[in-house]
Amino acid sequence: MKFRNFKLVGYVIFGRGAFNQVDEIVAPHRKGDAPMIFFVDHFFEGNQPFVSRIPLRGKDKIVFIDVTHEPKTVYVDRLRDELKAEFGEVSGIIGIGGGSTMDMAKAVALMMTNPGSSADYQGWDLIKNPAVYKVGIPTLSGTGAEVSRTTVLTGPTKKLGMNSDYTPFDQIVLDPELTKNAPVNQRFYTAMDCYIHCIESLEGTYLNAFSRSYGEKALELCQEIYLQKPAWDDDADEKLMMASYAGGMSIAYSQVGVAHAVSYGLSYLLGTKHGIGNCIVFDKLEEFYPAGVKEFKQMVEKHQVEIPQHITKGLTDDDFEKMIDVSMGLAPLWENALGKDWQKLMTRDRLRKLYERL
Ligand code: NAD
Ligand code: ZN
Repeated sequence: MKFRNFKLVGYVIFGRGAFNQVDEIVAPHRKGDAPMIFFVDHFFEGNQPFVSRIPLRGKDKIVFIDVTHEPKTVYVDRLRDELKAEFGEVSGIIGIGGGSTMDMAKAVALMMTNPGSSADYQGWDLIKNPAVYKVGIPTLSGTGAEVSRTTVLTGPTKKLGMNSDYTPFDQIVLDPELTKNAPVNQRFYTAMDCYIHCIESLEGTYLNAFSRSYGEKALELCQEIYLQKPAWDDDADEKLMMASYAGGMSIAYSQVGVAHAVSYGLSYLLGTKHGIGNCIVFDKLEEFYPAGVKEFKQMVEKHQVEIPQHITKGLTDDDFEKMIDVSMGLAPLWENALGKDWQKLMTRDRLRKLYERL
């Protein structure tokens, strides 16, 4: 048995208002007059009270990140080229936003020091050189992108992350105040990404005591926030932020499962975003995760969230084939979910029927 030796995030600061310490935290990482580049989710563009708190020094620059679509390799390459043309070198990249913006920050930080296109590095351990200094600051909780060793990118031929030991952030700043005003639906979809990470990890065949410890805690936090609390409050923002962190740690040493495998296909074909896509799929997975799906439905009901239905209606055979190809390509996810003999259990036909129900 060979155990995975995985790289963690360098530094973690947690607390309401921790964002105010960003200036002093990044100061020792400034290299001469090379700027720090702040990648900020475009949601915050025009939010002057927030933008004015970003500690710009010297040539530092804010780049608003368009997250209408999930990050693409062409977008990563373009931003890298623009930064190189404008500054030559940068001291670091600081991503402030949801999973998409954090992934963009990780990806561009890697591409500042690695030649070619980010599409060349979609896969496992293909990155050669350490990235520039990079910091992740979530404004939505749930994806676990703040702790993961990947940055999910859609490229010309595949949707796959740049998985490597150079990918995790050097620093994360977990400030629950930044998630305070997220809209109910978006917050729910992203939170359910965490809930689904927990179920898939805890019900998976790759489970071990490491994953279980984090997964159980994250699950308990999600249940408390979404089923027990009478209303959303500051405590919920704090707990969801820690659930996201722990959920991410849980899958770091196990794997996700059926919902992720199926939702990747949707996202590849239809551009369905990760959080909502996982919800659309998980809603129909009672045969795989009966207790989890039942509880998920209770949360949906309690919070009056809308889960889109019939999104694959009218798709062609060709479309279904494409989604099935993408999904079937994710062998580790299926193996975690269904065991070594997963190919016998999850046939193309069975998967097609599942896609048709979404
Ligand atoms: P997101 O980053 O895609 O953002 C979703 C929406 O919420 C956007 O419109 C954004 O502008 C908005 N938003 C962000 N913060 C907000 C706030 N505080 N208030 C109001 N609106 C806000 O959403 P997400 O669910 O956090 O991330 C999904 C992305 O993360 C996908 O691109 C997915 O591929 C990626 N992901 C990465 C990993 C990883 O390990 N690297 C894991 C899971 C998901
Ligand atoms: Zn996920």
